[in-house]
Amino acid sequence: MAVGPSRLAPLRRRVLREALAVVALTLLFGVASVVWDLPGRLTGPVAHVVLLLAFSHLLMMVFGKRRSDDLKAEHLSRAAAEQDLLHRARHDDLTGLLSRSALLEELTRSREAGPVPVLLIDLDRFKDVNDVLGHAVGDAMLVQIADRLRDELPSGAVLGRLGGDEFAVLLPGRGEAEAVRVAESALAAVGRPVTVEGTVLELEGSCGIATEAGTAADLLRHADVAVHAAKEEHAGVAVYRPSMDADSGTQLTLVADLRRAVRDDELVVHYQPRVRLSDGRVLGVEALVRWQHPVRGLVPPSEFVPLAEQTGLIGALTDAVLGQALAACRRWRDEGLDLTVAVNLSVRGLFDAGLADRIAALLHYLDLPASCLELEITESAAMRDPGRALEVLHRLRDAGIALSVDDYGTGHASLAYLTRLPVSTLKIDRSFVQTMELDASDRTIVRSTIDLAHGLGLRVVAEGVETRAAWDELGRLGCDDAQGYWLARPQPFEDVAPCVAALRERPAVSRTS
Ligand code: C2E
Ligand code: MG
Ligand code: MG
Repeated sequence: MAVGPSRLAPLRRRVLREALAVVALTLLFGVASVVWDLPGRLTGPVAHVVLLLAFSHLLMMVFGKRRSDDLKAEHLSRAAAEQDLLHRARHDDLTGLLSRSALLEELTRSREAGPVPVLLIDLDRFKDVNDVLGHAVGDAMLVQIADRLRDELPSGAVLGRLGGDEFAVLLPGRGEAEAVRVAESALAAVGRPVTVEGTVLELEGSCGIATEAGTAADLLRHADVAVHAAKEEHAGVAVYRPSMDADSGTQLTLVADLRRAVRDDELVVHYQPRVRLSDGRVLGVEALVRWQHPVRGLVPPSEFVPLAEQTGLIGALTDAVLGQALAACRRWRDEGLDLTVAVNLSVRGLFDAGLADRIAALLHYLDLPASCLELEITESAAMRDPGRALEVLHRLRDAGIALSVDDYGTGHASLAYLTRLPVSTLKIDRSFVQTMELDASDRTIVRSTIDLAHGLGLRVVAEGVETRAAWDELGRLGCDDAQGYWLARPQPFEDVAPCVAALRERPAVSRTS
């Protein structure tokens, strides 16, 4: 390993200085010995001492030389180790190609001089080779592929391995067309059969190309998006286009669609009855939103409520649901059916200072008492900014609207904390109720939650009642209300009244059996 001349120069200078000093001192001594006639005066024991000194000096010179050789060797090997470490940090152990971080550095550096297209090559089904033939064969294959790529790439190209079966190529100073050509020849090289331990293997690869982006890391990410598109479409090579990016194109269309959905009344509300355990009476329903999409059909809330929350559409969505749910409540009342309606409030709704006033106006317009509405909030929502949330909750509560904690047990709020909120009802999450019959610890959680909540003056609703056994057990545990598929699924407005009547007739529910 070559060591930089700059590191040896001080050593050389020092040796030279010392050698000059020795020569000068020896000359001085020679002159002195002539002046004082030292050889003539040195007789007897003094001559012996001088001889011994001369001999020991000779020995010291020999050992000194060896010591200096050792030092020099040590210095050289240390420099080599440093160099080796540096190399290893920048290179992949297996193939000797540039590592991800080194490649990223190189990319950042070379982009200063102009655009640098990036190619990302990923082997198809390489995992199968590793799983079936073992890692040793997989590794040998990667080494051969790396060698081939090295041979195949044009001069000036920089090759790296990002990890696993992913290789990256930088093509400073080249355009998109050239990048596609390089990608095709690289894939042809990858596709040629490889022989490992006598076994002939054939693999194919896919390549994603990205040519322009804000940062070096963005460029790599775009190439990654393109390689996935190439794989999905079995296209071999794909050049990144923003429309491939799930984060931009598709989401944007969905947001535009959702905005239209809220405006054009594509949101529909289904209602799930909440049934009293003691006598099977339906006292209320929960309003659950769905999106009647012109192409995708009925879309569940999990697929668009989070998106609405992120994009500020949630306020309009909540208003649409409230409007439909309270209008439904008005119509049931007109038919003689006294049902309360529970509407889910999102995290943002808790920070919506105008909500209480809008609800009051709606209730007034429909001539409904506030007691027919309940708002469900999740514990995590209430925990996010307790101060501000409390303010909005108190205003709602003061307006006579009942509040409940939804999905209890899935967040981290303690019951004691929740009682500081002006809530009157606790809904135990369905994950505990569904497994209550099988899992003794879930049964304990349900039982103690019911007891604790009652102790704090709260009403308890069990969500996700899917069997008669769960219904019966909840009755024994003293739970107040239940909701679940065994009783009734969420359904459109017009099916609710018949469903409520049918539940009244069901002996197992009305406990007349
Ligand atoms: P959630 O408020 O906890 O609503 C209960 C969910 O459990 C509903 O799902 C309901 O269909 C489902 N469910 C009821 N009984 C059973 C059962 O026995 N077994 C099983 N496996 N599931 C049952 P859905 O309608 O898909 O709603 C999911 C979540 O979406 C809701 O959970 C709520 O958090 C949210 N959501 C629904 N509508 C709205 C809305 O208008 N606004 C807001 N912000 N969120 C909503
Ligand atoms: Mg709910
Ligand atoms: Mg729930």
